[in-house]
Amino acid sequence: MKLILLGPPGAGKGTQCKRIVDRYGMNHLSSGDILRAERSADTNLGRKAQSYMDSGALVPDDLIIEMMVGAMKKAGGGYVLDGFPRTVAQAEALDAALEKAGEQIDGIVNLVIDDQIIIGRMTGRRSCPKCGAVYHIENLKPKVDNICDKDGEPLVQRKDDKPEVVANRLKTYHEQTAAVVGYYTKTDKEIMTIDAAQSPEAVTASVFAKLDALSDQGR
Ligand code: ADP
Ligand code: AMP
Repeated sequence: MKLILLGPPGAGKGTQCKRIVDRYGMNHLSSGDILRAERSADTNLGRKAQSYMDSGALVPDDLIIEMMVGAMKKAGGGYVLDGFPRTVAQAEALDAALEKAGEQIDGIVNLVIDDQIIIGRMTGRRSCPKCGAVYHIENLKPKVDNICDKDGEPLVQRKDDKPEVVANRLKTYHEQTAAVVGYYTKTDKEIMTIDAAQSPEAVTASVFAKLDALSDQGR
């Protein structure tokens, strides 16, 4: 299956993608995770992306499109796109790349949630700098406070999850990314809309119900 997971930052895309890949056995292609890995490795791309990411702005489309189309080719087979496309130009470039490869997206999941809930999710998010596992200080706690369950690393708060940057990221979402949902509404693709304000388990159950139906149709 080839999927797109849409939704504002902090909606729970990464959390749900990890569960989707475990169940359906596909690659998780998160543009944010790939950019953070590029930054950690101090690559050209990572250096170019840094100031945009730190301020809550979008990294320029040309850099992202090249990076994600490359990641899709490398992954081969099934994948779930997380955090991409984030502009209509990216969605158009994705369509063009898929058409060129003779492939298509099987399903689009849209996580819907209010800004007020998102703010609490982003400011309470803690991540493992080593394996990328994501927790929340209240909603999805690690077994030991501030320590990754998987590898025992101390958890960190992302720089762009500080309240002042969170406000900018939400503004960026409404100004530039929300239109991507409208873009797909105009295509013949069904958008699977999910209430992302539910508990993590309830969101997962809603997502799996939709994806099980898709996979039963042989996709
Ligand atoms: P995104 O990838 O969309 O930015 P994440 O998956 O990183 O979002 O989730 C943002 C934060 O909210 C994380 O701290 C995560 O643990 C927490 N979270 C995710 N889903 C839920 C949920 N359904 N209810 C409460 N908290 C959640
Ligand atoms: P995320 O981990 O998805 O919240 O992304 C973190 C940051 O990476 C965003 O705030 C952007 O600066 C950048 N980013 C991630 N994906 C994209 C994208 N598709 N287009 C532009 N910038 C992106």
